Amino acid sequence: MLIPVSVATRQTETLPCDILIVGAGIAGSALACGLRDRGYSVVQVELSDRPLDTARGDHFQCVVVEILEQWGALQAFWDAGAEKRHGAIYYTNTNEVLLNAPHAGLPIPHPYYLYLHHELIGQTFLNLAAQNSRYTLFRPARAREFDIGPEGIRSLTLKLPEDHPAPDGFTPGQTVIIKPRMVVGADGRSSRVRDVLGFEAQVHDYENPLVVLFAPRVEPDPMNNVTIFMSPHGTISRIPRAFGGWKVGLPIRKADIAFWKTATPKMRKSAIAQRAPQLESIDAEVGGFYPVKLLNTTKWVHGNTVLVGDACHAMHPARGQGMNVAIRCLAKLMNLLPDVGEMVDAETVTRRLRAYESGVKPAIDKVLADNHVRGEEMDSLDASVIARSAAAMKVINADTELLRRYRLQSAGYADAIGVPNQE
Ligand SMILES: Cc1cc2nc3c(=O)[nH]c(=O)nc-3n(C[C@H](O)[C@H](O)[C@H](O)COP(=O)(O)OP(=O)(O)OC[C@H]3O[C@@H](n4cnc5c(N)ncnc54)[C@H](O)[C@@H]3O)c2cc1C
Repeated sequence: MLIPVSVATRQTETLPCDILIVGAGIAGSALACGLRDRGYSVVQVELSDRPLDTARGDHFQCVVVEILEQWGALQAFWDAGAEKRHGAIYYTNTNEVLLNAPHAGLPIPHPYYLYLHHELIGQTFLNLAAQNSRYTLFRPARAREFDIGPEGIRSLTLKLPEDHPAPDGFTPGQTVIIKPRMVVGADGRSSRVRDVLGFEAQVHDYENPLVVLFAPRVEPDPMNNVTIFMSPHGTISRIPRAFGGWKVGLPIRKADIAFWKTATPKMRKSAIAQRAPQLESIDAEVGGFYPVKLLNTTKWVHGNTVLVGDACHAMHPARGQGMNVAIRCLAKLMNLLPDVGEMVDAETVTRRLRAYESGVKPAIDKVLADNHVRGEEMDSLDASVIARSAAAMKVINADTELLRRYRLQSAGYADAIGVPNQE
């Protein structure tokens, strides 16, 4: 008997896979990219069909550039418009150099940061991920209905939206039951995966939100340096953007959000110049306001499921580490994953995930603790705290060995996480 197509295609479909990735922010999309030529069947579920928020992380540390090269992904970033940043310089608001930390000259394969808009980073990873013939992306689709047991996540039931095209082989409105051998929760700071598995987290809310502004460049800087100005009124950072722009970020009091929302260009100019007279010629538009949080889960693994990225370690953007730490962890996770043939053995999957957790989490706890100290410094609008951090930078700048170590650390080569090719 012939079944009408409209009925047949709407049946519930069961979709087994090796790896289910929940979320396609930078952590989820980078993982799908890194796995693309490893033979796994990968299913990814992303809630939003909009581009990622352009104001978020957009600079890859030198060590992450090395990881991109190892993944065969680096050229795709140049093709997408990525540019090189050659250093970071801290100034006082009276133009005294506090710390000058060039990346150039470091004994590493890629002595530069790579930067590209956040949403283009995500899209570049996803374009590469799609080279895997065993890759399916459900987007937009919300991962909500998990079947959970002691062995981890048994299945995810997805209802595909009626009003969006479905991936090949699926139809809008269809129900899909994904049965994964392994699950990666890459669903960000408000992670659903973390919550359904009952992971506990230590959370710290920083006092002051960040305001992010965008501006066209008004002066050339062939080094594309990040410049940070430390004044008694707070710090302010000017960060190069690809395609000829700057991102400006500063912590503000919550009560001042209203000011920044309604300020005229002239008022914005004078508020920026109050912190850094050097930036007075900048015409900046407000991009957004960001409450800042530290989040650190006590565990990463439950059975066949592991958390990555902001889902388990969200941090203050003071040192531009969140996205970078996520990718460095993924590189380590990928080294420990069972081969495709071993994925059928649930115990092997869990054992490898636990090895990843016990091997890497202590380093991340340390990175989070260090980042928290830097976060508190950047968060502070107290002149005496800012003066203390400025004095500490001068000490580093004046000592050749301390400065070398600082530069290596900011490149990602001298911190607790370690270097990809030295495992
Ligand atoms: C202003 C600002 C500046 C920053 N600057 C830097 C920087 O310079 N360098 C740096 O390294 N880091 C920086 N960061 C941090 C960095 O942006 C984050 O650490 C990183 O983007 C986190 O990526 P993620 O993929 O873990 O999480 P997210 O980007 O939050 O991605 C999670 C994804 O999961 C999806 N999702 C959520 N729930 C579900 C669900 N139930 N089902 C399906 N999908 C779901 C979301 O839609 C989202 O796309 C900055 C952050 C901010 C706010």
